[in-house]
Amino acid sequence: MTLPDSRSETGGAAEAPRTYEVRTFGCQMNVHDSERLSGSLEAAGYVRADGTPADIVVINTCAVRENADNKLYGTLGHLASIKREHEGMQIAVGGCLAQKDKDVILQKAPWVDVVFGTHNMGSLPVLLERSRHNGEAQLEILESLEVFPSTLPTRRESTHSGWVSISVGCNNTCTFCIVPALRGKEKDRRPGDILSEIELLVADGAIEVTLLGQNVNSYGVEFGDRLAFGKLLRAAGSIEGLERVRFTSPHPAAFTDDVIDAMAETPNVMPQLHMPLQSGSDRILKAMRRSYRSEKFLGILERVRARIPNAAITTDIIVGFPGETEDDFADTLRVVEEARFASAYTFQYSIRPGTPAATLPDQVPKSVVQERYERLTELQERISGEENAALVGTSIEVLVSSVEGRRDGSNARMSGRAEDNRLVHFDVPAGSALPRPGDVVSVVVTRSAPHFLIAAPAGDVLPVRRTRAGDAFDRAEAESCAIPSHGSALTAAGGGSGTTVNIGLPTRRPGGA
Ligand code: SF4
Repeated sequence: MTLPDSRSETGGAAEAPRTYEVRTFGCQMNVHDSERLSGSLEAAGYVRADGTPADIVVINTCAVRENADNKLYGTLGHLASIKREHEGMQIAVGGCLAQKDKDVILQKAPWVDVVFGTHNMGSLPVLLERSRHNGEAQLEILESLEVFPSTLPTRRESTHSGWVSISVGCNNTCTFCIVPALRGKEKDRRPGDILSEIELLVADGAIEVTLLGQNVNSYGVEFGDRLAFGKLLRAAGSIEGLERVRFTSPHPAAFTDDVIDAMAETPNVMPQLHMPLQSGSDRILKAMRRSYRSEKFLGILERVRARIPNAAITTDIIVGFPGETEDDFADTLRVVEEARFASAYTFQYSIRPGTPAATLPDQVPKSVVQERYERLTELQERISGEENAALVGTSIEVLVSSVEGRRDGSNARMSGRAEDNRLVHFDVPAGSALPRPGDVVSVVVTRSAPHFLIAAPAGDVLPVRRTRAGDAFDRAEAESCAIPSHGSALTAAGGGSGTTVNIGLPTRRPGGA
């Protein structure tokens, strides 16, 4: 692929390469796919737009969330007016909604240049070029996977953390979910390919990896090994330099004790589990075609906590599934009370065209759904608040992300993630060395709120463990800004022991552990 600039049209005058922006709607799978899209575009010579209007805007859509269509067409309407003023601008739409709607997008928004599906993300640069060359929109939707997403180039959003797909698609048939229709049957990557990719990420400076799949613990179904996911966790545990392993999402129906054993016995697998409940009512779980029941679900949590007492367990819950009665909802409240989730993603059920639940009778009126939703979030907020409050006074290790702020005149405040993935804001006392994104700090929890912890060092100075990930961040900063790397010379303002350097450049890499 050649550099997509306009040299050939301007007699060879050197012009800036074309810039791109990827906007992501949806889940972590989509965030990961967007990193691949960015990587494919950069491999083809495009550069990321930093604040200025991009020449290429790619929208990576999601069909799972409520109002996905409205959000897409609203965004496209806004982009239409920008495109009128911006010569040569191109708009591409990919992802689940593109896979589902296909040519509908071009009918509704004829100013879109490229529409591509979930199975051909790697074709985006070619489709953009072809559209520019031919002066017409390109639509390419494949029905099956050609290249596994993780084999495409990536532009990682964080130097210290990376995503690794272990499977795509799903063999389940939850009646509210569009994923099986759009992403197809589960396809598993070979364990060796996954481990090589993790090793490459670690060599590139990552110390944290999240294994991704629609249903991670059914990993291996394609090559006939029911214990493959637990084995994969243990194998990731032996990769030198990899400090934190996470995964999302498992499914309660197929969550076996060998996975719990692997989590408990592999030191770098973090004490965190996202376990989607969806409903506490067995009747509704059956209607959702979720093949576990609330008792089994609570049994899994009990066994996880018996082996990993400090595990933070989070969940997804849908309120107002068709036919949900007040009694069913009371079951959900009861299970939530018993489960003691650290936090929950709560959703109001809304009809997703193309899913079996869309045509079920007894859709619950919006006002009833809203009222139940508020009761559920109020309960979960209380539990999250209590669970976090129980951590006040404990010592935690925080992997620093790149967000940085100033709490008052002298102390800095930075943020990161604890081992259990809780968001932590911590103080950096005056005179302490500022940790870099990717470094690890030891702090004590001083206060809590339902959605985060506040922490501070036990002594006067912040204990910082400088990591390879922090070094990689420094290198990336130095390369992108062509300046000497920072690090130990930086101190929290007001300290007298180091030189405070302010070069006035924005931090380029967003964090996000
Ligand atoms: S397990 Fe159910 S909710 Fe999850 S992706 Fe598969 S069908 Fe959808």
